Amino acid sequence: MKTATFPRAAWIPAVLALAALLLPLGAPARAEALAPKKPRTIVVLTFDDGDATHLAVARMLQKHGMRGTFYVNSATLGDEEKLTTRQLAAIAEAGHEIGGHTLNHTRLTELLPDQQRTQICDDRRALMKMGHRVTTLAYPFGSVDADAKRTAKSCGYNAARVVGGIRQWNCPACPPAESLPPADRWGVRSPGSFTEETQVRQMKQLVLNAEKTGGLIPLVFHRVCAGCGWYSNSPEDVEEFLGWLASRKSRGTVVKTMAEAIGGPLRPMPKG
Ligand SMILES: [Zn+2]
Repeated sequence: MKTATFPRAAWIPAVLALAALLLPLGAPARAEALAPKKPRTIVVLTFDDGDATHLAVARMLQKHGMRGTFYVNSATLGDEEKLTTRQLAAIAEAGHEIGGHTLNHTRLTELLPDQQRTQICDDRRALMKMGHRVTTLAYPFGSVDADAKRTAKSCGYNAARVVGGIRQWNCPACPPAESLPPADRWGVRSPGSFTEETQVRQMKQLVLNAEKTGGLIPLVFHRVCAGCGWYSNSPEDVEEFLGWLASRKSRGTVVKTMAEAIGGPLRPMPKG
């Protein structure tokens, strides 16, 4: 005998519609947990030596919604072909990080510990007096020893970048990215400094390599101007690279400052 039942085909969509209304409360977190975990890659764009071309670089970065890390030698600000303190302030106000790079760009491994202390601490102190939030350091020439690392720590830094240690043509056995947190925060690794011979495809390859494992990949730029020295890259090449890098966001690759990537508070200067 046929009973008058509510047709199944009619109530299923009604239940689904009701579920759709209620589910969003808890569903996104669950969906995220179920999705395959993508390795997260953080690219840090570092620009060393307080070069005068970095004012234009900061604007290029902003155009792409990126913030860079500018490692400056406080005692050389205002010198020929260097940023002025006012230009540095403009870069900081736009949201970029200002980091220390010693007073005079001296090779720390050739200094006595108290000279290292002057170069690292007094530089940080000078930049902080200018109002900058200085939490990371880059060793000039990437040259560092155990004393310099200890000094960087005692001067109130949270981390310091070296040059090298990440996989590229001259170090095929190196890891493709720095770990997060870094294995040694007083020796945060990077590929070698870019030179005028570095091609955009090589810059891209470093990021692609890092994306395979995820982690931190600091890139080291110096001057940004056409044909202006060994440690320089043309504005056209940097622009092309930044445009491509922005598109990697869809792969989970993001650009941060070193301070953002490392984290940690602004530590006060030591007394004396
Ligand atoms: Zn330098």
